[in-house]
Amino acid sequence: MQSSSPELRSLRGVGPAAEERLRRLGINRPLDLLFLLPQRYEDRTRLTPLGALRAGQRVVVEGVIAVADVAYRGRRSLLVRISDRTGQLTLRFFHFSRTQQNSLSAGTRLRCFGEVRAGPLGPEMVHPEYRALQPGQAVPLEERLTPVYPTVEGLPQFRLRDLTDQALNRWLDTLPDALPAGEIARTGLPPLREALQFVHRPPVGADLHLLASGRHPCQRRLALEEMLAHHLGLRQIRERARAERAIALPATQTAAATLRERFVQRLGFELTAGQQAALADIDTDLAAAHPMMRLVQGDVGCGKTVVAAAAALVTIAHGQQVAVMAPTELLAEQHRNTFQRWFEPLGITVVWLSGSLRKKAREQAYAAAADGSAQLLVGTHALFQSGLAYRSLALVIVDEQHRFGVHQRLQLMDKGASDMVRPHQLVMTATPIPRTLAMTLYADLDTSIIRELPPGRQPVTTIALPERRRPEVVARVRDACRGGAQAYWVCPLIEESDHLESQAAEPAAAALAEALPGLRIGLIHGRMSSTEKERVMKAFVAGQLDLLVATTVIEVGVDVPSASLMIIENAERLGLSQLHQLRGRVGRGTDASVCVLLYRSPLAEMARARLEVLRATNDGFEVAQRDLELRGPGEVLGTRQTGLMQLRVADLVRDADLAPAVQRIARELLATASPAVEELRQRWIGAGDRYGAV
Ligand code: ADP
Ligand code: MG
Repeated sequence: MQSSSPELRSLRGVGPAAEERLRRLGINRPLDLLFLLPQRYEDRTRLTPLGALRAGQRVVVEGVIAVADVAYRGRRSLLVRISDRTGQLTLRFFHFSRTQQNSLSAGTRLRCFGEVRAGPLGPEMVHPEYRALQPGQAVPLEERLTPVYPTVEGLPQFRLRDLTDQALNRWLDTLPDALPAGEIARTGLPPLREALQFVHRPPVGADLHLLASGRHPCQRRLALEEMLAHHLGLRQIRERARAERAIALPATQTAAATLRERFVQRLGFELTAGQQAALADIDTDLAAAHPMMRLVQGDVGCGKTVVAAAAALVTIAHGQQVAVMAPTELLAEQHRNTFQRWFEPLGITVVWLSGSLRKKAREQAYAAAADGSAQLLVGTHALFQSGLAYRSLALVIVDEQHRFGVHQRLQLMDKGASDMVRPHQLVMTATPIPRTLAMTLYADLDTSIIRELPPGRQPVTTIALPERRRPEVVARVRDACRGGAQAYWVCPLIEESDHLESQAAEPAAAALAEALPGLRIGLIHGRMSSTEKERVMKAFVAGQLDLLVATTVIEVGVDVPSASLMIIENAERLGLSQLHQLRGRVGRGTDASVCVLLYRSPLAEMARARLEVLRATNDGFEVAQRDLELRGPGEVLGTRQTGLMQLRVADLVRDADLAPAVQRIARELLATASPAVEELRQRWIGAGDRYGAV
């Protein structure tokens, strides 16, 4: 349990209001303040001569007011020109009081802190912090770099500096170093206390650039601890799962073997070596009386669904239930269709469950789950709604894992758990995470990787074209569709909003219908009901539509092998992985496919780099690696939305070289059942953490 409130209140100046705000920052004990780390630093230790200012710098300056005037051109503003022996600077205030204006009179000496920008009259600062200096008054500068902390409303920086001062003075010396001394020596990184003292109060002369890059040894020391804390959390989940019991589901049992045999025969294709290897891993796991926790990783189109289906069959043959969960309704519907197509001829009952089901249908699904007549349930997160009970859920399949947080996955696991047993867990992801990252992010899962695509696939040719060449692209769509091909036209949202969800695609569809008379054009977007969406998708799959105009709802998993042309509008606005996912919707059949990325000029450098990566490679692993380099893991994995892992100092890409040390130390701490494990969790993840909830 977290420490009780009096402890936080023991800090000078902390009453109920401040306490509440601190808790919102995740600070429950005074000690936690030591682990609230600065986001950046300001250098207020020296004066910068006005002649040496450069735009973008945040600096302290001093000068005497030459003129102060209210300007009315553009927005009304108070302009104060200060000068020293080397140059001049304009201070610009859009909001100012009469008193303020009067105090800023010519001849007054000011000290200011702010960000320099290039203004119409030379360098300027907008709303700087400032104070007037009395003649002859010597006000000392700061002695250390000034930390800037992450905060919440009502807790200004000076309060946080005071609170962290108190924490550093009163608690730093008592803080135990959780890492084994030998290991610390081996990494060559400084001890914890030294690292914390430095990061909170970097001395004058500390390398600001190194600090800004997050590569200072003191920061790396803390990053190591933070990665270790998360890694340990995941390892604990896994250890606990190992100790739990699950129903053993050997694939060799006669009924299971026969059912799978019939399934594979009807498929019409052979499993690839990668699929077979992944399935072999799964079979071994399922045969054990402990819950499987396995991640199957493989690029879009490599055929993960068949593997999942083969695992589901074994489970069903053993008289147990399977739940298949997908992150979006569209993807879940597609899985439903696939599983129905494959399983119903084998006499297996597939039941659909989504949030949009009407009451009656939902009650029927619930009843079927409870009495066991639903052998396989497919759906969205509705599958772990409270009130839903399974008769005997033995396998949970989660598609596109990174869209669900660890927490949601665990919830579904809990769903099937009784006092006796837990379900097996199979996670599928098309995000090809580099190995070091995977070992940290998915430390609770074993991994199988499917590297090859089914035979006969042709690589997608990707071209990037500026918006002004749209007419050529439209002509290309016309020719391709007249030749019997099918095409997607994707219109990403310009802004995140439900309302715009349809707006992005509707006008585009109308314009295309006008430009392409004679083509059968469909429209699909997130605001349509699932019945409508399904009707459109069905028509497209059946070849009754030539062109499907869509928002990014089709991003994940949609499978129409005969589609061979994709146009993506505003491609410069999308991330690499998202573009790769979208592109994966074509090139699924045997036709040579083309993906056209339409962009608006001029392209920002980053956007250019992204489009170039896609032109250069079709390999999802490479795309993922480049994506990480260009953007950082939080964005790539969508962790911002899911809360999968929020890091304070560590950056899983920048600090990837620490991963071996993290794993080594984790092993040692776990082997010796060290109390440091709990301490690390409290420090870095907090009291109300997700890992503890299992
Ligand atoms: P993903 O891994 O992206 O989820 P899917 O499971 O949707 O891929 O498979 C993509 C397509 O490839 C589907 O149409 C599927 O039926 C087909 N497929 C899967 N495995 C094979 C195989 N071994 N040979 C040929 N086609 C396959
Ligand atoms: Mg898939």
